[in-house]
Amino acid sequence: MQTKVKLTKRVVSLATALVTGLSAVGVTGIPGGVFGTLSASAEDGHNYVNGFCTDEGCASPYEPATEENGTYQIANAGNLYWFAEQVNDGNANLNAALTTDIVVNEGNLANYDGTSENTWREWTPIAADYGRYKGTFDGQGHTISGLYFNDSSAECIGIVGDLGRGGVIQNVGLENSYFHVYQYTAGICGYNSGTIRNCYNAGTVIGEFIIIGGIVGAFEVGTVSNCYNTGNITGKSDVGGVCGNNMMRSNTIENCYNTGNITGDMDLGGICGENTANAIIKNCYNIGNVTGTDKRIGGIIGRNASKFVENCYNTGTVTSTGENTDTVGGVCGLNSSNYLTNCYYLADSETDKLDGTTFKTAAEFASGEVAYLLNGSTSGDANIFRQNLDNGEPTDATPVLDSTHGTVYQFTNCNHADTYTNNKDAKSGDHSWDDNGFCRYNDSHYAEPEQVNGVYQIENAGQLYWFAAFVNTEENGTYPNTSANAVLTKDIVVNENVLNEDGTLNTSGTFREWIPIGDYISRYAGKFNGQNHTVSGLYYDDSGYAGLFSMMNDGTILNVGVVDSYLKSSTVSGAICAWNNGTIENCYNSGRIYGKEDCGGISGFNGGIIKNCYNTGTLEGGMDGTLNGVGGICGYNDETIENCHSVGKIENAVGYIGGVCALNFKVIRNCYFNSDIYTGNRIGYESSVGTIENVEGKTTAEFASG
Ligand SMILES: [Zn+2]
Ligand SMILES: [Zn+2]
Repeated sequence: MQTKVKLTKRVVSLATALVTGLSAVGVTGIPGGVFGTLSASAEDGHNYVNGFCTDEGCASPYEPATEENGTYQIANAGNLYWFAEQVNDGNANLNAALTTDIVVNEGNLANYDGTSENTWREWTPIAADYGRYKGTFDGQGHTISGLYFNDSSAECIGIVGDLGRGGVIQNVGLENSYFHVYQYTAGICGYNSGTIRNCYNAGTVIGEFIIIGGIVGAFEVGTVSNCYNTGNITGKSDVGGVCGNNMMRSNTIENCYNTGNITGDMDLGGICGENTANAIIKNCYNIGNVTGTDKRIGGIIGRNASKFVENCYNTGTVTSTGENTDTVGGVCGLNSSNYLTNCYYLADSETDKLDGTTFKTAAEFASGEVAYLLNGSTSGDANIFRQNLDNGEPTDATPVLDSTHGTVYQFTNCNHADTYTNNKDAKSGDHSWDDNGFCRYNDSHYAEPEQVNGVYQIENAGQLYWFAAFVNTEENGTYPNTSANAVLTKDIVVNENVLNEDGTLNTSGTFREWIPIGDYISRYAGKFNGQNHTVSGLYYDDSGYAGLFSMMNDGTILNVGVVDSYLKSSTVSGAICAWNNGTIENCYNSGRIYGKEDCGGISGFNGGIIKNCYNTGTLEGGMDGTLNGVGGICGYNDETIENCHSVGKIENAVGYIGGVCALNFKVIRNCYFNSDIYTGNRIGYESSVGTIENVEGKTTAEFASG
């Protein structure tokens, strides 16, 4: 790029623009009346608002900045203009520091359409006209907002127009600004040969021609580090989120990123439009969209000739609307150096054919894998790329350049896979529990609940699954844990919306299958107390005995409700315990229960005690020609049921059917069913060996009356 040849001509037009701009300032005076405080300077007789003199035709209209220890203290917009004037008068080595956020203009400058009427004060850059600023301009963490420059024949525009060797711009953010120029322009510095660090641009930069950037336009020599751009950057060619053209020698751009939209014709990059031989770009990323009409369009660099591009990634969309799509790439558009090192781009398959670049999926970016790779497959406090994964902070979908975010460590997880975590103490084989107690690496791993006095304290679904697996565990042919005790300390949600509003199965859902507690060979014999919590979202459709519990001997189940659940078995089903030989008390069901052999709202078969329970759920199933059936509380009763009621529906049922119980061979007393909802018998089959006391249907009105 032969820069100096073009400059001579452009400098002339720029000088004209500056004269115009300056005279306009004197005439228009204060913009908009937004700055209320009038600070009069008694010594010099000016009347300043925001550092601008309000006196018509004032010959020196900016409030001078005060100097402390060789640094001018910029406390208002007038001070900033005054400082620019001093530098532009030939004092290129002056230092300045912002002591507050500076607001030059208010209004929506960043979205200005470029032509509509406005009263904004025009900016004159520090070291305009290739003035080679060599001092230190330190924002001290403050912002400058509302800079306005609109001359499509001008160039070398920025907060600083031209930063010479030895010059420094640091710790300043440019907000809500609008620069419309010809070429060699950026939010922070139009033409850079110095050091720029910890700066950002959020303003709009539009160039009619070439070398337009968010942080620097032309970059001759020096360093740009820890900077970012969020503004929209537009030009014809050599347009980048951080740098328009990284021109020569060993310039370095490092630890920078872009989120703004980059648009133009050709040589467009998320970080740098054109990167020449030996210019270094490392540890940078782009997530903005890069869109051109022609060729050499890349996620990081449009046109690259350097062998020193490393540790960069792009997840932004890179597009050419023209025909030269063979030089449109995830990392680089055209790479004539044939060297790129450790760079990544977002894609589901290889789209960027260049050596040294690797596609990664959104899941791989989100997992922490790419952050780990970008850090050279090392982990520690010195890592440049960070990512919140599992440290309790909001997670990052992609790596970030923010040392307050989590360090990424790699380990081999419980599923024998390479995994990434913020936990530096993670050990090979470790699980990672989600909020519901399931392992993120393998969802058939469940969190173990804590014990209090030997009672498992179950607070989420994973722990309930753990308890089921624990009870069902076989060791050397025995089942040592069937007497384990547990309580629920919270409502448990396994799945959501298993049933539709009308109580039918939600067939559009995909549900985790329930594994009932206890089994034919591991019958539950402990004490399970729901403590008036619910278990919701159980889903089962298989041949085992289906319920929250499958089979129980001598155990006790208390104070639990099964809701929003679908339990279907080709054998026996009961929402609380399919086959009960223990005690069930103070439990209820509102789920949908299907049992082919026996089906009940509480139990399919009862050989123990069921008392103070109720059912509001819908029951289905039964068989013709056998001693099986469907009952509101129980299918087949061979012991005692008392003080229970059912107001649920019985649908699609065959064989013996009863509002309370399908078949009774022992004792049922003080039990009722809603005879408006189920109009059939109280008991489907009343054996002469059984006892039935106070068992009858009641109307909805009678139930409501208490
Ligand atoms: Zn004045
Ligand atoms: Zn696991």
